[in-house]
Amino acid sequence: MTSEPKENFARGARRNPRLAERVAELIEKDIVASGWRIGSVLGSEGELIERYGVSRAVFREAVRLVEHQQLATMRRGPSGGLVVTEPDPGVVRNAARVHLRRAAVTRHQLLEARMALELAGIASATENLTESGIEKLKEALDLEQEQIDRGVTRGYARDLHRVIAELAGNPAIALFVEVLAQLDQDIVQQEWDAADVDDEGHLDDAIASHEAHEAIVAAIVAGDAPLGQHRMRRHLQAIAALLPDES
Ligand SMILES: [Zn+2]
Repeated sequence: MTSEPKENFARGARRNPRLAERVAELIEKDIVASGWRIGSVLGSEGELIERYGVSRAVFREAVRLVEHQQLATMRRGPSGGLVVTEPDPGVVRNAARVHLRRAAVTRHQLLEARMALELAGIASATENLTESGIEKLKEALDLEQEQIDRGVTRGYARDLHRVIAELAGNPAIALFVEVLAQLDQDIVQQEWDAADVDDEGHLDDAIASHEAHEAIVAAIVAGDAPLGQHRMRRHLQAIAALLPDES
């Protein structure tokens, strides 16, 4: 990978961890400034070392950081250089979930955050609703109905929340609604698994959630954001009551 002896590279990078982070930030700035065109080349290694005015070891450590963040990757060869890539949102969501679990977030705190985000999402989704948005909502409801018909209750709770958040057209709302809804579901599922309750025991909960989802969608489609928010609030409170809260 590198022509330098490994120890030298590691030592050089360790000496300047802050500098490498700073260069990684500059690379990120340059990617944003250049319009984040996936596949475009920011420059060759030699050009970029000159542009940022750092040693090869520091530059390579910075590249390791931006590669880890999925901002760019170093391509070898004649047409090589630092190539702009597309960050995988799944990796970001996963990292956020891991962080929140490590921070021992409670279900009560998750509810509080979801409430704020999802109610804002309902308002924007209702305001921006298009024909294709209505189709997406109906598809999500149909999928839920199919799952319930087949007796599948695992994973029923999340998809409609994701669709509404995406229709809100706000990437920040979409990201965090997905993270929080998934995390809440993971925690509930874990408790159920620990209590050795089989999926069939939750069919009633799944049906109640589905009915709440239908009512929320009906309000959004009718253009009645306050009613949709009211129904979402009650639905999230019902989800929160699925387990006795620890806090
Ligand atoms: Zn739900």
